[in-house]
Amino acid sequence: TRQFFVGGNWKLNPTSVGKAKELVEVLNKAELDPNTEVVISPPSLYLIPVRDAVSNKQITISAQNAYYKENGAFTGEISSSQIKEAGIPYVILGHSERRTIFHETNEVVALKTRAALDAGLKVILCIGETLVQREGGETTKVCEGQLSAVVKQTKPEDWSNIVIAYEPVWAIGTGKVATTAQAQETHVDVRAYLSTAVSTTVASETRVIYGGSVNSGNAKDLAGQQDIDGFLVGGASLKPEFVDIINARK
Ligand code: 13P
Repeated sequence: TRQFFVGGNWKLNPTSVGKAKELVEVLNKAELDPNTEVVISPPSLYLIPVRDAVSNKQITISAQNAYYKENGAFTGEISSSQIKEAGIPYVILGHSERRTIFHETNEVVALKTRAALDAGLKVILCIGETLVQREGGETTKVCEGQLSAVVKQTKPEDWSNIVIAYEPVWAIGTGKVATTAQAQETHVDVRAYLSTAVSTTVASETRVIYGGSVNSGNAKDLAGQQDIDGFLVGGASLKPEFVDIINARK
């Protein structure tokens, strides 16, 4: 009984607070499957206006990143405790764009996860392999390496506050969605790893969601897979079809 989870990662979009509020309005008015946990993740500057614009209590908010120090001389960063104080319950950590463009290592992502959990945030932890790694047969090894850094920083009870987002890098923003079989297979591998590295309970209770070119056309098939517990949606979360993805299990 893992609750279906659909997150909208807006990334560095939209380009004005007015447009951000328009996106929220669409969701406020929509009929959302009450069984889906819905989380939207605007850029940091819009977290508070978006929080205030959401009227549907089913929708919660996530930050897209947080530094692992609570405060200090870290120009340009925001901390998990600041996010928590603002009434934002979630943070996305380890997104592949953070890992590649901003050079975040597995260890940095793990420190950020530890700090977020300590601040009382829930974490959407992103993992996933590049195309070269998949073609080299390294998918499982890469995902396990990303997870093991976090396992070292956590206790079994922390995992009730972590959602794992499996996002193959080659599927992000490319229109090249993983096949249902590819996604399901990796999700099974993630659970198998959690089972040996953490516990069988954590393996069966932790939600593993899929991200990478999810849209209203492919969401239903993916959502029908046993080990796919939802989605982290980029581009399509900025469009009306996001509602169809939220309702993919309806
Ligand atoms: P797209 O849905 O645009 O491929 O992005 C996926 C993603 O990175 C979500 O975090």
